[in-house]
Amino acid sequence: TLFSDLGLAEPLLKALATEGYTSPTPIQEQSIPHLLAGHDVLGLAQTGTGKTASFALPLLQRLEQFKKRAMPKSTRVLVLTPTRELAVQVGQSFRTYGSQYRLRHALVFGGVGMVPQIKTMAGGVDILVATPGRLLDLMSQDAIRLDSVEALVLDEADRMLDMGFIQPIRKIVAAMPKSRQTVLFSATMPDSIVGLAESVLHRPVRVEV
Ligand code: AMP
Repeated sequence: TLFSDLGLAEPLLKALATEGYTSPTPIQEQSIPHLLAGHDVLGLAQTGTGKTASFALPLLQRLEQFKKRAMPKSTRVLVLTPTRELAVQVGQSFRTYGSQYRLRHALVFGGVGMVPQIKTMAGGVDILVATPGRLLDLMSQDAIRLDSVEALVLDEADRMLDMGFIQPIRKIVAAMPKSRQTVLFSATMPDSIVGLAESVLHRPVRVEV
């Protein structure tokens, strides 16, 4: 299988070629067509399987396809990650794969000043990668609003729950439209993740590697 067999648009194929990637990994092959079609996905996959591209590529394509202007203080795609390090990595992946598109990106995580993050969000962005605690802080200051989010990704959801982020995640999800597309990736599937998946996903396609 080639990336071009999965329904990805030419600008994404070009960005992939620049990276030297021609063949999708198994998780990418399973996820991308369903996400392009607008379905929710529940993915069981470890780091190193190519899971980031499996949601970044189709979500970039949909952002471009349904061209809309982000609302002030808002984002069209929200990715939640457990740590600052993963947020940086995921943000970089979106930039790399989306290099042929003109999209606005932002990163939000704790341990650094809030003012630059507030300024970046003021005009609205297409893709926001965030850790839950800082995102909630910025929401409570009315610096970020989530009422026009089109797609949500919960990345490494089991680690987020291990770190005690279940309440922040529930508050964040409650601030988003129900009609969004949602993706949940986790390396393990304990009951707590099954429960979270049931409350945030709508008729998900299950993918596993
Ligand atoms: P991830 O599991 O998302 O952390 O990705 C693991 C690594 O694999 C990253 O360095 C990616 O850039 C790389 N990668 C992702 N997809 C592919 C692919 N289809 N072919 C080769 N490398 C890839």
